[in-house]
Amino acid sequence: MTVIAIDGPAASGKSSVSRRIAATLGFAVVNSGALYRAVTREMILRGIDVSHPNDVERELPHLGLVCEAEPGADCKVRTTTSIDGSHLRDEAVNALVSGYAALPAVRRFVNAELHRVGATRPVVMEGRDIGTAVFPETPFKIYIDASPEVRSARRAREGLNDRISERDRLDSSRTADPLRVAAGAFVLDTSDLDLDQVCARVMDHLASLGLPSR
Ligand code: C5P
Repeated sequence: MTVIAIDGPAASGKSSVSRRIAATLGFAVVNSGALYRAVTREMILRGIDVSHPNDVERELPHLGLVCEAEPGADCKVRTTTSIDGSHLRDEAVNALVSGYAALPAVRRFVNAELHRVGATRPVVMEGRDIGTAVFPETPFKIYIDASPEVRSARRAREGLNDRISERDRLDSSRTADPLRVAAGAFVLDTSDLDLDQVCARVMDHLASLGLPSR
């Protein structure tokens, strides 16, 4: 199945671009960060601290984590305690998600679900390591960036309390599948571009690789 990997730091605009590209192509869209957020939320609810990786690993099979992706809608992430992905952007989750996401067992667990979804249908999948680690064999790799000032301003406009520079630092410096540009990725700095311009460039790039648009 075709996977378009869209990676980049927090608030770089990945989600908006991914939704638009998926809609243009008739693909489903998968926000892999939502799976890491769901794991984090479940661990918080269950009182399992990130400093006990063995306990975290033992609990993972009990979370009932499922990602449902259909064309034309955001993916739905379900767990045993949540069917609508609510609270995934809570301040507590923002503060802790990079810690849980740094645990290799958590990454293996999330990646298994991402692979399952990616095998069922064509998807645009956004995250930090989709092009480097989850689907490194896809030729369709995009890296979306923006200046720290622009990214912070975007989050502030959304009214979200999210220390993105701290998350970026943790996500880029961890040992397991850190955030970095995949070899061969099309890198786009969106600081001075609007969504239409970004999507047009991404679509041109995909067309240059032979991916037909609808
Ligand atoms: O994309 P979003 O900002 O919602 O991701 C939340 C967190 O999940 C990231 O800061 C990162 O720690 C983790 N993540 C990851 N790998 C991915 C997607 C997200 O480690 N592919």
